[in-house]
Amino acid sequence: MARYTGAVCRLCRREGKKLFLKGERCYSDKCAVSRREYAPGQHGQSRKKVSEYGLQLREKQMARRYYGVSESQFAKYFEMAVRKPGMAGENLLRILESRLDNVVYRAGFASSRAEAKQLILHNHFKLNGKKVNISSLLVKPGDVITVGNDSKSSEKFKAVVEAWASRPVPMWMTVDKENMSIKIERLTNRDEIDLEIAEHLIVELYSK
Ligand code: SF4
Repeated sequence: MARYTGAVCRLCRREGKKLFLKGERCYSDKCAVSRREYAPGQHGQSRKKVSEYGLQLREKQMARRYYGVSESQFAKYFEMAVRKPGMAGENLLRILESRLDNVVYRAGFASSRAEAKQLILHNHFKLNGKKVNISSLLVKPGDVITVGNDSKSSEKFKAVVEAWASRPVPMWMTVDKENMSIKIERLTNRDEIDLEIAEHLIVELYSK
């Protein structure tokens, strides 16, 4: 499926929730969800009864958009989640949280996952000492992500890191802002993921 290239705020309005796709703007009063609390389009303000399938689909779309993942990649993650021990829904969210772009964003080295993706693509990071430019790479406990030496001295990069220095860092990673490095201590627990999502609906959708 083609990548969505339209206005990202429409995605949040479609889900009726902030998905934090635009960095600083999401925290300001310019946020489109705060200004217009209804879905985009001609029928956005009309109330519709949503079917069970519709609810499941919306939940999947919301998670997919939140993490910036394509349909096919999301379906692959679900297959992986089912094969792992434990609850498939929780496993799915844990896999999504393990993506390198999410880790860079959660660590406060980017204002959004989309920006993290760009920074990774442009070779600003190393994984365990080796250059990495694949944002979908899944990290594991013990992995160390560092910012390349050239990037550390880049004014633009420093400004991004400084701007987001106060964002709380999840417990499952250790972040050294001074040396611009991230260590993955363990994988995340469901209760540490701040995404309001009913993952069981996604499991039900894929189990049909
Ligand atoms: Fe979503 Fe951010 Fe746009 Fe608000 S500003 S609608 S949270 S992308």
